[in-house]
Amino acid sequence: MSAKRPSIADLLLAWYDANARVLPWRAPPGETADPYRVWLSEVMLQQTTVAAVRPRFAAWVARWPDLASLAAADEADVMAAWAGLGYYARARNLLACARVVSADHGGEFPRTEAALRALPGLGAYTAAAVAAIAFGARAVVVDANVERVVARLFAIPDKGAAIRAAAEAITPDARSGDFAQGMMDLGSAICTPRAPKCLLCPLADRCDGRLAGDPEAYPARKAKAAKPQRYGTVFWLERGGAVWLVRRPAKGLLGGMRALPTGAWSDAPPGLVDAPAPAGWRVLDMTVAHGFTHFDLQLALAMADAGAHQPAGEGEWWPVDALDSAGLPTVFAKAAMRMRSER
Ligand code: SF4
Repeated sequence: MSAKRPSIADLLLAWYDANARVLPWRAPPGETADPYRVWLSEVMLQQTTVAAVRPRFAAWVARWPDLASLAAADEADVMAAWAGLGYYARARNLLACARVVSADHGGEFPRTEAALRALPGLGAYTAAAVAAIAFGARAVVVDANVERVVARLFAIPDKGAAIRAAAEAITPDARSGDFAQGMMDLGSAICTPRAPKCLLCPLADRCDGRLAGDPEAYPARKAKAAKPQRYGTVFWLERGGAVWLVRRPAKGLLGGMRALPTGAWSDAPPGLVDAPAPAGWRVLDMTVAHGFTHFDLQLALAMADAGAHQPAGEGEWWPVDALDSAGLPTVFAKAAMRMRSER
């Protein structure tokens, strides 16, 4: 009688045991990791690469090593520490979640996917990842890497329900956290978006995409819709070595973040409308471009010495030499860098 054919999960877990990436938020194969670190890393990784997250993760856990310390943190500090990691709502939700877990769950994350899903900021993906990776619960974790590997394994052209159903079918009851991390690692190192290394792949014999001859065809790439272009002006108002910073409205894009003043962003360059003071503005012959999820932004840069003018509205004079510690979102940090070099 021939030996039982190993399952896809068996093959993948054996590969993972030998090849797992060592990451600061991970436990070795077969062990479960600290839920705080798993949750934090998953939130950070939603928009950023592993290489970019590593130093940010290290700095974060040096400052807030556990959930209790984060729950007690000041919101402004948390927002500033998140600067550059994108989607600031995530930072606000991290803090809200830490406080809810502290107040309502005795400081311990709940262990089921459903209870995790009820926490602030935990969507279906993050809840599944934390349940599987930190608690060993059976949960189906589908990130972009897993989606690509599964699409190729089963030659599924369209992203969505069919990929999820196939991922569900191959997720094992035991070690589903290691399985998820193994799929992520396989997608990152072997089953890459371009030129997958099928000769090194532990799943090559089971892969319909490879057997069909063109694994890169899965999942089908959608043509990107052109994003609308918007325009604005960002204002550098200086007095005695300090620059005028404001806090953005709590609701809306980059809500609650410290920022350089800028007027409304619109479909045409707005010029000096909404300047914070009627000073002698100089518009630089350069702009800053930044891509947001739903639109591209081009900012004109205007500089002035405040002189005797007091800027309108609330804000603070921030020493230019200490601007790096202001926690400016990336788009304003880019603008500030340009304008500092023009002073
Ligand atoms: S055989 Fe190739 S396409 Fe299929 S899962 Fe492995 S690396 Fe990806």
